[in-house]
Amino acid sequence: MGSFDSLEWLNRFLDETPGDIEVGGPTRQVPNACWSRVKPTPSPQPKLMLWSEEMASKLNLDRPDGIVLGGNEIIEGMDPYAQRYGGHQFGNWANQLGDGRAITLGEVKLQSEVLELQLKGSGKTPYSRFADGKAVLRSSIREFLCSEAMYHLKVPTTRALSLVTTGEEVLRDMMYDGNPALETGAIVCRVAPSFIRFGSFQIHTASNDYDTLMTLVEHTVKTHFPEHSITSDEEIVQWLTHIAKKTAVMISHWMRVGFVHGVMNTDNMSIHGLTIDYGPYGWLEDYNPGWTPNTTDSATRRYRYGQQPKIGAWNLARLCEAMVPLMEDPSQLHEALEAYSQSYGELQNQMWAGKLGLSSFIESDEELIVELNALLQEVETDMTIFFRLLCSIEQPNIESLSDAFYDPSNIPTKLWNDWLSKWWKRVNGLPNRSEMIVSNPKYVLRNWMAQLAIDAAESGDFSVCEELFNLLKNPYQEQPEFEEKWFQKRPEWARHRVGCSMLSCSS
Ligand code: AMP
Ligand code: MG
Repeated sequence: MGSFDSLEWLNRFLDETPGDIEVGGPTRQVPNACWSRVKPTPSPQPKLMLWSEEMASKLNLDRPDGIVLGGNEIIEGMDPYAQRYGGHQFGNWANQLGDGRAITLGEVKLQSEVLELQLKGSGKTPYSRFADGKAVLRSSIREFLCSEAMYHLKVPTTRALSLVTTGEEVLRDMMYDGNPALETGAIVCRVAPSFIRFGSFQIHTASNDYDTLMTLVEHTVKTHFPEHSITSDEEIVQWLTHIAKKTAVMISHWMRVGFVHGVMNTDNMSIHGLTIDYGPYGWLEDYNPGWTPNTTDSATRRYRYGQQPKIGAWNLARLCEAMVPLMEDPSQLHEALEAYSQSYGELQNQMWAGKLGLSSFIESDEELIVELNALLQEVETDMTIFFRLLCSIEQPNIESLSDAFYDPSNIPTKLWNDWLSKWWKRVNGLPNRSEMIVSNPKYVLRNWMAQLAIDAAESGDFSVCEELFNLLKNPYQEQPEFEEKWFQKRPEWARHRVGCSMLSCSS
């Protein structure tokens, strides 16, 4: 273990792709570039408040003070930059976006992998558009806790190393209703093989800069997909098929644990199939496929829970389109999209087999699952509690699952008992319980749980953050000491509270 100085730093993205000739500078269009060098803005009083020991030990880092992670010192070997990318936002092409408040410090070379460290909330970049480049404590806590929780849920994700409060107040109009307030500023250091997104490629195709597109594709494949090459149409399709399959895996896990990303814009889709950019995400409490936590999306609910698999396909189609200029026969790109649909279908079946403890999925199970989905929506039913209690059910009787219902006097008992009997028969009274336990988490980061951690942290007490951080390292374990507090349906106070039932993109 050591300090930032003792790490081996690389900057392959800067070495291998074209960038901005200017360093830093004002907010602007940066044509033909994949990045701009920019230094983090130093924090007035950086304090390290949350630290992931696990991530740190992977990086061989001792717990530091907040100097480097608050953006106040650049270590030799780091060459900080902001990435340029574009994206489709809510279905519309938005042109240049880029890292408006994220700054990569560098890549750390480890024995068997290379990981990129990026500060989020460390000040303006050429891509900040009209915003300040900062992040507030509440959204930083949500990103820190959720990305680490997702990792332990076995959902592919970027990770978090640290959360630093900056000692600076940041002005935010949280609900965009003309009531701005000062909030505590914070910076999360997040970690991933890279932060290259679908939109990183799209921007070059959209500006007809096929040379830069090709260079970025070559860099990405060589660096992150070394088992692939792209010397022919077939190889390009194989690479995209690989990405499609990884995306399908990620989304099938979201569906399994009840996660709603909230902003599946193409600039928020990692080329590695990792959950990235934790913003107005949420977790299903009552099982409502039409739910999205994101207020900005309330009109059409484009990114609602039940639509995530389809949006995955839509986003992949945009990525494929971006590759058209590199191909002689772009019609082959359909194969990658078909691979996504096929892969997702298979994964979905596996997911249900796991959740219901079926030894394997057979065609007739489809009916069982369709009926289950309808029943779960009949009255307000907590997804996490329902499936977790189902893991230990002894008889096909809904009474033992009554804790999953918001109104126990209103359970459609007959319908449920019919369904449970059908399922019981299907598994011969012997559901695969060990499979069920690892498919149905006991603890997830419900919005109201994160909000309690935020409320305490905003008054200087990070103990709830720490408690949740530790609880969620073992989401599939019983942890009976935490059951009463955290294995609970959404409390009434959280039903309509901002931050719990709805979230804006303001962060
Ligand atoms: P998101 O919806 O969080 O993925 O953000 C969309 C775009 O807005 C990205 O280019 C972000 O970098 C940028 N952005 C979001 N918040 C800020 C901020 N406070 N300052 C600068 N850029 C921001
Ligand atoms: Mg984003």
